[in-house]
Amino acid sequence: MSRYTGPVCKRCRREGEKLFLKGFKCYTEKCPVERRQYPPGHLGPAAARRRKQSDYAMQLREKQKVKRIYGLHEKQFRNLFRYASGRPGMTGENLIVALESRLDNVVFRLGLAANRRQARQLVRHRHVAVNGSVVNVPSYRLKGGDEIALREGSRELDVVEASLGARTRPPLMDWLALDEKRRVGRVVRIPVRGDIPLAAQEQLIVELYSK
Ligand code: SF4
Repeated sequence: MSRYTGPVCKRCRREGEKLFLKGFKCYTEKCPVERRQYPPGHLGPAAARRRKQSDYAMQLREKQKVKRIYGLHEKQFRNLFRYASGRPGMTGENLIVALESRLDNVVFRLGLAANRRQARQLVRHRHVAVNGSVVNVPSYRLKGGDEIALREGSRELDVVEASLGARTRPPLMDWLALDEKRRVGRVVRIPVRGDIPLAAQEQLIVELYSK
């Protein structure tokens, strides 16, 4: 499946807010969203002056934003929404928790990669094992108690070293544990919505897909 390989900052500018797609680097680099507060393209400044968005446009933008933060394609995102809507509880919250429980996201949250793209590559290139078995599927859904480890030859990779040593690395979340020396992490429990620092209105996504 093809991936977007263009400039990621454009995606933040399109949504008009910082999506932190470069992960830890976003805290140190000059952020284009702060410097140019209008969408990319020659119509960008005009679009920024446009009147209030319709309900549909707001719902669409919210969905695009969350999809881009987690780096998913439309089909993957829609499938995840279907899974979330079949679970007990609130669909929007289930969706965010399901996104957060993906293996690539957890590798990023553990600090073993500086952003989700890098985390996905570590998984795809077979550097990561779950409960002792190599898993190369970034969407693999983790459960409480699962152990995530870097394989023996992968523990000293430059990207891992740089990520763990980054000054801007955010503190580890309550639902995760990490033995930094051994490069072994654990999902202590599945997170609830309140544990996830994602500024999104998931209800808008539910409304969009429920039309
Ligand atoms: Fe987005 Fe980070 Fe680029 Fe800013 S620096 S536009 S937050 S990816």
